[in-house]
Amino acid sequence: MLNNFPMLYPDELFYSALARYKQMNAIDSKLGLERDVYGIERHHKVGKSVYFPQRLGPFIERLPFYTNLSADELIWEHTMFPFYTAFMTEEKTTAIYNAMKYGNRMSIENMVGIPMSKIKTPQFLRYCPCCYEQDLNNFGESYWRRLPQVPGVLYCPTHQVLYKESAVDITKENLDYICADDDVCNAALSSDEVAAYKEFDERYVQNVQWLMQNRIRLPHNYMSSFYIDRLRDAELTSYAGNIKMTEFLEAFQTYYPASYLEMMQSAVSLEERNNWLKLFIRNTAKNRSPLRHLLVLQFLNVPLDKLFELEPVIGKRVRKRSNRVPIYSSEERKEQWLMLLSKHPNANRKELSKINNGLFAWLRIHEREWFDEVTPKGRKGCNQ
Ligand SMILES: [Zn+2]
Repeated sequence: MLNNFPMLYPDELFYSALARYKQMNAIDSKLGLERDVYGIERHHKVGKSVYFPQRLGPFIERLPFYTNLSADELIWEHTMFPFYTAFMTEEKTTAIYNAMKYGNRMSIENMVGIPMSKIKTPQFLRYCPCCYEQDLNNFGESYWRRLPQVPGVLYCPTHQVLYKESAVDITKENLDYICADDDVCNAALSSDEVAAYKEFDERYVQNVQWLMQNRIRLPHNYMSSFYIDRLRDAELTSYAGNIKMTEFLEAFQTYYPASYLEMMQSAVSLEERNNWLKLFIRNTAKNRSPLRHLLVLQFLNVPLDKLFELEPVIGKRVRKRSNRVPIYSSEERKEQWLMLLSKHPNANRKELSKINNGLFAWLRIHEREWFDEVTPKGRKGCNQ
């Protein structure tokens, strides 16, 4: 039974609470801590991760009954789960959730796709020097927060200073449970706290926080349709929803400074045939990082909270669009037209257009030459 497990601070990583528990109880080995916390035997491995801890269900069972903490609260509020699963299907999200709750042979990082992603996660745990000072004054200790660990987050939204790297290298095999204290949080407050990219970062952070605080999932396939709708609004697609790729890429590059995209691990090069943005928007990318979803959403000027206010409207747009998507191939349409002509051998164009205006208009736009060849010209007077 874990009688004195500490209360978690707001936005604290579960890893951080484990580190504080270990220090409080002067537990000298990692293994000792894991046995204590998860109730496992020496030969059992516990999926250990700073971002995605596992076996949170068994952990909760070891807490005294009067503790209010639940595995659900831990997963949503004290791990990187809500950020990394935000653009996944409910199904995938549930699989990852269950793996974190009950344990899993595979690391969650693999399930989420972090090792394969072009977006690298920070090597060191990060912190805000001002939050750190404030914590020491308020609580007599500090802790590791989730927000600074999100790739692409640059500034602390409370203090407007750049996040700093601590000395805790989370890529290290056999990483110990280390508290946020003076030994590791000692980066000097430098004079580089300038406003570079601040505006972009501010909106990025707002969106990240929104993802962390809301349990709504925005799966890829939904987002793909949504992007097309918005690009169509911006006249960056054809009527049918085909993206005007060059114009889109240029607009994106005009919106974001190249150095900011570089810093976001998302530089776009027009020369590169398969640059990430092309694959991303065409829905051929294998792994689409939440960071890149947020970059595209910001470019489209869609704050996440607004996205959900708009939802019913988007539904209509999606339906509209699916009506516009050609259901028939050119050849099928031509065949239909020829049949229509043979049924109405004496009709003029005006009458033909009344019989099937959609087909008439489509062929006139897309197959003009062929259309003129097979369709009788206006025979004035014939049918009057
Ligand atoms: Zn701060």
